[in-house]
Amino acid sequence: MKTIQHWIAGSNETATPERTAPVYDPATGEQTSEVAMGSAADVDRAVTAASEAFEEWGDAPVTRRQQIMFAFREILNERRDEMAAALTSEHGKTLPDAKGEVQRGIEVVEFVANIAHLQKGEYSDQVSTGVDTFTIRQPLGVVAGITPFNFPAMVPMWMYPVAIAAGNTFILKPSEKDPSASQLAAEWFAEAGLPEGVFNVVHGDKVAVDAILEHPDIAAVSFVGSTPIARYIYEEGTRHGKRIQALGGAKNHMIVLPDADMELAADAAVSAGYGSAGERCMAISVVVTVGDAADELLPMVEERIAKLRTGPGNDPDSDMGPLVTGDHRDRVVGFIEKGEQEGATLRVDGRGFTSDGNEKGFFLAPTLFDDVSTDMEIYKNEIFGPVLSVMRAETFQDAIDVINANPYGNGTAIFTCDGGAARTFQREIEVGMVGVNIPIPVPLSFYSFGGWKDSIFGGHPIYGTGGVEFYTRPKVIISRWPDPMHRGVDLGFPQHG
Ligand code: NAD
Repeated sequence: MKTIQHWIAGSNETATPERTAPVYDPATGEQTSEVAMGSAADVDRAVTAASEAFEEWGDAPVTRRQQIMFAFREILNERRDEMAAALTSEHGKTLPDAKGEVQRGIEVVEFVANIAHLQKGEYSDQVSTGVDTFTIRQPLGVVAGITPFNFPAMVPMWMYPVAIAAGNTFILKPSEKDPSASQLAAEWFAEAGLPEGVFNVVHGDKVAVDAILEHPDIAAVSFVGSTPIARYIYEEGTRHGKRIQALGGAKNHMIVLPDADMELAADAAVSAGYGSAGERCMAISVVVTVGDAADELLPMVEERIAKLRTGPGNDPDSDMGPLVTGDHRDRVVGFIEKGEQEGATLRVDGRGFTSDGNEKGFFLAPTLFDDVSTDMEIYKNEIFGPVLSVMRAETFQDAIDVINANPYGNGTAIFTCDGGAARTFQREIEVGMVGVNIPIPVPLSFYSFGGWKDSIFGGHPIYGTGGVEFYTRPKVIISRWPDPMHRGVDLGFPQHG
């Protein structure tokens, strides 16, 4: 059985790990490898390597950092299919979806290949006689990222390319459920010329995470994952004096007004509800229909669900793959049972599905609930599976009120042909990322990503210019060069003139 090891100081660890966890192929349900589970000592070794590497990397010319980013981008571009195959085999998502994920990660590398422009400071000449003021943005030092299972390539790439391009050194603690994409990234980054110790990967669980949060030589931590853990990371990390960005879970609503293009809305609800088996933080999990919109929309949604093919992610005929683990599939099934008990109308039931030849795979077919209300557990919880809920609101304002009362605020969307309604929605909705006739409004790499409310702690959005700001600290310099005309002691507070 292959053991996936930590990557520290430019190579894989060779000692037998004290603890390991199984890694599965979700389509077959079989264990395919095991992954080392990091200890505090492993984290400490990675921090030592990263601290030593920072001495040189933190001082490296920006042109050199850019060249390595370009080289890394070229390798990723050439081998994108290999990385996508690794995602499908451990996460379960379909190959086209995995390729899309890799593409969105590559775009962040492309963005920071131009870090010289992003790290520019400001300059003011002659703020006082003979005095100039300017700012520079310097790296923080050793920084860490802790990432979720659902985007094993892209979410780490929201973090480490930005941090490293800005001159930091990095420790990644990826999800223990699908660790191979991080291993590939580490090897390819080294091939691109990244010096040893600049990028390190320590696998593991809470033990490694706590060691990161407590380590005095880690300056900042980026986290993406569920809300309870995001809150914990924020509280513990700030308690230890670190800069923290912690992005949490979601419950994303899509409003459909009666005047919407219903075919478009039905396509969007099904694509965004069941894509990646609903295991996306920007998945639509609740469709809020207004007035009589549901009567037209629901048959169209059901018609599309009936055509979806659930199966192994590497089968070109599959539209939707399995869930990531058997435990997670069982948890989602538990929510479907709960929804029935709570009185929601189960219009499509995905339970009991098996994929021929893959009877042990972690499959669950698309499921659709109607008549869902805000007091139900299936509404209150992030299910993170192929379960779409439909709620009916009488008025547009009622629909907005439902979304604004929800504790999460990651993504949302409105489907309408009324520009005025869309504008009201985009201004009044208390959510960080808003789609107008777009169901999954994930900003491209030159904007930043981040929700509101319980979907983010610390308020720092990720990647884009927000990411560059997070991984650098500004320094302001006020300078005067000796001038014989301006000498003499002055105890007053410095004033211009
Ligand atoms: P998770 O919170 O269980 O795990 C995320 C990371 O935290 C993993 O690396 C995991 O090993 C670690 N972890 C888990 N339990 C821990 C604990 N008790 N103490 C310390 N560390 C712990 O999330 P997941 O199941 O891997 O991913 C799915 C979640 O991530 C969903 O809630 C989803 O909405 C969210 N997510 C959010 C975004 C976003 O941008 N807001 C993006 C992707 C995923």
